Amino acid sequence: MKRAPVWDLLPDELRALGYRRDAGHLFGRFQRVATWDDRGPALSREARALADASLDLALPRIVGEVPSQDGSTRLVFALADGAKIEAVHMPRAVRRPRVTVCLSSQVGCAMGCTFCATARMGLVRNLAAHEIVGQLLALLHRHGPVSAQQLSIVFMGMGEPLHNVEAVMRALDVLCDPAGLGVAPSRVTVSTAGHVAGLERLASSRYLPELAVSVNAATDELRRQLMPIDKKWPLSELRAALARWPKRPHQKITLEYVLLGGVNDDVASAERLADWIGDLRHIVNVIPFNAWGDERSPYREPAEESVRAFTARLYERGCLVTVRRSRGRDVRAACGTLAVPA
Ligand code: SAH
Repeated sequence: MKRAPVWDLLPDELRALGYRRDAGHLFGRFQRVATWDDRGPALSREARALADASLDLALPRIVGEVPSQDGSTRLVFALADGAKIEAVHMPRAVRRPRVTVCLSSQVGCAMGCTFCATARMGLVRNLAAHEIVGQLLALLHRHGPVSAQQLSIVFMGMGEPLHNVEAVMRALDVLCDPAGLGVAPSRVTVSTAGHVAGLERLASSRYLPELAVSVNAATDELRRQLMPIDKKWPLSELRAALARWPKRPHQKITLEYVLLGGVNDDVASAERLADWIGDLRHIVNVIPFNAWGDERSPYREPAEESVRAFTARLYERGCLVTVRRSRGRDVRAACGTLAVPA
């Protein structure tokens, strides 16, 4: 009999495989890396018997680790079929230690955004839920934190999470389950290129994550050139979908805007973006373009002065604005630069 990958099995499913003891406890043993020993989950004799008979405990293998000078690390994982994905571990030592982990949801990506390195790979395949969870657990086992209290998760690695929404929702069910790692849904951010059908599906998730949307242009004419998905779901439809998104009280939607020098970084674009945002409760996250070493690329990093003028205009228009200084720029771990050569 083929063994079931264990990393996305919920307690009921462990029970259905014939586990007679406390399946919630066993689920915790698998999900909580704090209880693992060097090799992985420490299991009782009964649990070991179940594992030997019916479970596959193989984790995505860490095959590359590239530390950045800023303390973050880009990790490369090999999956069972040899496919590779990347994730980024970003500790931040403010008052309390916290770590943000950037996860991949697909091998490659089908969205074809013209400024993004992952798009060059095309879509190789979706990640299964157990691969999404396994990616995280392998990373936490190696680099910490072992407790969810210190963890934030962003689905901003390779892939479009809402193009693989069923697996992402299942990963949320597992990661947020209090008997397991118990990540607070408000500490998970799903970032989308504007996949409206996926948004509608995600809205029914048992655990509702934070939402980030890559807007990147405020006219369809420009956005279509940067992001082919705009042809399917233009800005008006995306805006309507965001209005319908079931926000928690005080929740804001993050609107990402990659600032491309000379393309979308003028103040008139900032004006149009503010018009499009309207009364949506939001925070704009301006991301200065990260070059990724393609000489033929038409895109340039924006001038510091344009970043200032662009954000200042948004601010004057009543928008909340932050500028994302991408981590790991020296090791190709920055936003939009994750890609694994075929
Ligand atoms: N597919 C999802 C998840 C990826 S998140 C999405 O599009 O939201 C990656 C973020 O980095 C997106 O906001 C994307 O617009 C941005 N990005 C892509 N390429 C970039 C680059 N070269 N420099 C800076 N940001 C980039």
